[in-house]
Amino acid sequence: MILMNDFQREPPELRNAMLTAAQRVIESGWYVLGTEVATFEERWAAVCGVGYGVGVGNGMDAIEIALRAMDIGPGDEVITTPMTAFASVLGILRSGATPVLADIEPNTALLSQDSAARCISTKTKAVLLVHLYGQVRAMASWQEFCTTKGISLIEDCAQAHLATWQGKVAGSFGVAGAYSFYPTKNLGAPGDAGMLVTNNLAISERAGRIRNYGQSVRYHHPELGMNSRLDEIQAAMLTTRMKWLPEFTERRREIAQAYREGINSPLVTQLAPPEEPSAHAYHLYVVSCPLRDDLQTHLKEHQVQALIHYPIPVQAQAPCMHIKRDPLGLTISEAHAAQCLSLPCHPQMSDEDVKKVINAVNGFNSIL
Ligand SMILES: *Cc1c(COP(=O)(O)O)cnc(C)c1O
Repeated sequence: MILMNDFQREPPELRNAMLTAAQRVIESGWYVLGTEVATFEERWAAVCGVGYGVGVGNGMDAIEIALRAMDIGPGDEVITTPMTAFASVLGILRSGATPVLADIEPNTALLSQDSAARCISTKTKAVLLVHLYGQVRAMASWQEFCTTKGISLIEDCAQAHLATWQGKVAGSFGVAGAYSFYPTKNLGAPGDAGMLVTNNLAISERAGRIRNYGQSVRYHHPELGMNSRLDEIQAAMLTTRMKWLPEFTERRREIAQAYREGINSPLVTQLAPPEEPSAHAYHLYVVSCPLRDDLQTHLKEHQVQALIHYPIPVQAQAPCMHIKRDPLGLTISEAHAAQCLSLPCHPQMSDEDVKKVINAVNGFNSIL
């Protein structure tokens, strides 16, 4: 079976480097918020081209903490997309702010600026722009949109490690960026981890307090924080795994290119290509098909795993039925949820695996 992720096929050198790093941490006797975390924060912030990184427990917390550190909370509205991991919206809700859902563009599945414009109210404080599937797109236009409307741009970079638009890396366009290092992300830890990146010193300092009970110096709590500390083992694993990230990302791009050129079933529609090759990190390679469920079954029969991101848009989740949204509705996200399918696109895939996926997809045509 060609899987969506296959960690057991990772290079033995990477496995060994992780074991060495784990041993280093265990022997150090320091397990939470120490030098490993500081090193990873510094290195990941540098990769993103920003001044500060604040290691936190996971990507969802990074969103909540970014909002809280920017003084966005109860009474404030944050516009985002319904076609995302539920955590994007849950992070907004956890901060106390009100999420407002704007629809997506049909050819990219990214947030629609026209729809976002219809969601603006006097309470709007920010757009949480999700770099869905790993793609950074139209950033100058989003920056201008936010400046014009007098609101902040915050980036959900959980799928977009190393995605680069006109020389700038995801997380460096807005006031703050939220990264997840959940195992299946392009840079993944063997556990939960996340980071807030920003160029704003005050936001980074406040985020550093919020993640640790709101503590400024030991036992002093000038505000109510939470516990979302990053631990030394995960940080050490991430600093180690970072060294493989450029080559892994290049491999994802090669696979994506092969899919774009090779998939030609008339029943399968490809999303629009990125504005430049580096602007997509291909966390997921997504196609759409009106007979999506049949295609998924067909692929499984041909030993290809395929998953759906996401089958249920946020507005259709039980706790979100009455969530605020574009007055014109969210029909594009509903259509996309019914037709999208993610093909395996991970760096451990061989050229032969890639051909097998392409042949399996193109073979779908003939069964009808
Ligand atoms: C994974 C993900 C998150 C949440 O990250 P966690 O580390 O799982 O909390 C948020 N947004 C998007 C787009 C994601 O893919």
